Amino acid sequence: MRPVYVDFHTHLDLYPDLAEAIAACDRKRVATLAVTTTPKAFDRNVELAAGSEFVKVGLGLHPQLVDERHSEINLFEKLLPRTRYVGEVGLDASPRFYKSFDLQKKIFQDILEICAAEGGKILSLHSVRSAKPVLDYLEKYLPEERGTAILHWFTGSVSLARRAVELGCYFSVNEQMLSSPTGEKLIKEIPFERILTETDGPFVERNGVSIPPGDVSGAVRLLSVLTGKDELEVRRQILVNLKALLESRM
Ligand code: MN
Repeated sequence: MRPVYVDFHTHLDLYPDLAEAIAACDRKRVATLAVTTTPKAFDRNVELAAGSEFVKVGLGLHPQLVDERHSEINLFEKLLPRTRYVGEVGLDASPRFYKSFDLQKKIFQDILEICAAEGGKILSLHSVRSAKPVLDYLEKYLPEERGTAILHWFTGSVSLARRAVELGCYFSVNEQMLSSPTGEKLIKEIPFERILTETDGPFVERNGVSIPPGDVSGAVRLLSVLTGKDELEVRRQILVNLKALLESRM
């Protein structure tokens, strides 16, 4: 069956019931990228998503966990041939995680180099307070023809967004991002064919409750408001964008 929606950055394994969260994405026909935060979480996600028509699993090593989990880079390298999808990976320079920033950069470089060597990977990237170094590293260690990056919940400047577009990046956007003035401004700078939707569930909340698995309806509605396209057109264009991403040079 064809997907109806796209949720290309969600943490299904952080919902109370992973199997039910996967089933919900299948029922709603949401083309889903379930990211993980440590290589050790990968197997269980793959196992439970094995029968799913719409859920793919990303192999991740979250920058906020690099401090404790950096030794799992070996497991990351071992598991990488089993998946085309990588995430959540990236950098986080916010005060709480800045002490591990040097180590984060080392691990991020390793990840990009391993991905570049294998080729054809699609990466979902975290770039909190670090949009510039993330783009610098991408440019240096993952040439465009060796893999594709999706900047998840990008909060960098307009000029960095333009630079990311030139580097071939996609952007996955969620309803919380699109409700902020920064997000609104960014959307006007990014070519629509580079946009995908995400929930970043269960972290994104609606009225104080985690957004339901795969529910990108809010993101679609806000994209419609911000671009003047009707919701059906937004939804269809996002599916076209995903198809182009998945079929690009790989
Ligand atoms: Mn996330």
